[in-house]
Amino acid sequence: MNFELDEELINYKEKVRAFALKEFTEEVARTHDIEEKYPNELRMKALHEGIIDFMNPWKTMIGIEEMCRVDPGLGISATVPYFGAEVLMLHGSDYLRENYLAKVISGEKMMGLGVTEPGGGSDVAGLKTVATKNGNEYVVNGSKMFITNGTIADFFVTLVRTSKPDDPAKRHRGLSVMVVERAFEGFSSNKLTGKLGVRATNTGELIFTNMKVPEKNLIGDEGKGFYYIMEFFNISRIFVAAQSIGIAQGVLDRTTDFLKKLEASGEYVGEERKFKLAEIATRVEASRLLMYKAASFLFNYKPNPTITSMAKGYASETASFAAETAMEITGQTGISTDLERFFRDSKIMEIWEGTSEVEKIVISRMILKGEKNE
Ligand SMILES: Cc1cc2nc3c(=O)[nH]c(=O)nc-3n(C[C@H](O)[C@H](O)[C@H](O)COP(=O)(O)OP(=O)(O)OC[C@H]3O[C@@H](n4cnc5c(N)ncnc54)[C@H](O)[C@@H]3O)c2cc1C
Repeated sequence: MNFELDEELINYKEKVRAFALKEFTEEVARTHDIEEKYPNELRMKALHEGIIDFMNPWKTMIGIEEMCRVDPGLGISATVPYFGAEVLMLHGSDYLRENYLAKVISGEKMMGLGVTEPGGGSDVAGLKTVATKNGNEYVVNGSKMFITNGTIADFFVTLVRTSKPDDPAKRHRGLSVMVVERAFEGFSSNKLTGKLGVRATNTGELIFTNMKVPEKNLIGDEGKGFYYIMEFFNISRIFVAAQSIGIAQGVLDRTTDFLKKLEASGEYVGEERKFKLAEIATRVEASRLLMYKAASFLFNYKPNPTITSMAKGYASETASFAAETAMEITGQTGISTDLERFFRDSKIMEIWEGTSEVEKIVISRMILKGEKNE
């Protein structure tokens, strides 16, 4: 057993950290947060400087953590243009990989993933968007809500209903995924503003009105969409764990600096604040170990949904815990510095890619089924 990163990953981690410290200045972070502006120039810079390595999942995970440690909104923005790409990589035809996936990896295009609808996100199989086959195309009607890159992505991997099963208990069987382009007739989107956190990321509503989607844009087999999306969440949850650990580590860095300065100036620190710091540090470490274990299973082609949900659930709750505890430790300093942004940015971690309750449903179901986690 070895808990250390290898030399290549250590060097990569240092490179990403240097990049983020140079580019994600407080002024850049604050401006993009206040103006709710997506940092496209930073995304391109990160790509051209080799900071993003989508084809290497270990680097992607570590890169996300390091960037979010410096600023969550900018860090997520720089790494999210590929959101949903794994579905294309695992199930897309040669046509879809060449026309869509390759262009996202090169930076020419940006993508998103459309699953959540106005009626809710947790009950994936309850979605209402319908795609009806008509000759060699589908006619799609419905809408998607809270979609990252919603008003800036060129296309979206989108989950739709293609058939209605007779048995309502088998609702998940009639779903399919297809690539939907912004340029398609019948596609429109609206930007959603006023989010609590991650305000540098772009979020939108997608509306499909008699939108015609060529049959060749269907990903994989018709009716298997639900399974493809669940498989995707088992990958993306590891990256949300990385976002969460980045946030919690960033909070820990800042809180440690605060207490060191306080101690150096001879002011009162107190055991209670030190204990709180120790608790944040311990949870960060525990979250990271869980994430590494989940990643080690997944990246070695033995995905383990139980450990993945534990990692995502625990790391996201750690991000919120760290941010809130840091406010207690730092008082007025926390409220008036970048810790305030980390506090707001942390909450979404417990919501997207499966809420904490959804993760617990997955964990308990798998344990009761007798899943082995060793
Ligand atoms: C900034 C942002 C970006 C997002 N980006 C994307 C994106 O790119 N693509 C995308 O598809 N979605 C995206 N989402 C949506 C996100 O995935 C959903 O918000 C999430 O899945 C939860 O769905 P919901 O908000 O509709 O809450 P609901 O599903 O309505 O849940 C509300 C509450 O009820 C609880 N609950 C629901 N069902 C159960 C149950 N069976 N048992 C116990 N508790 C339950 C939940 O845990 C939660 O606490 C984004 C959301 C935000 C805010």
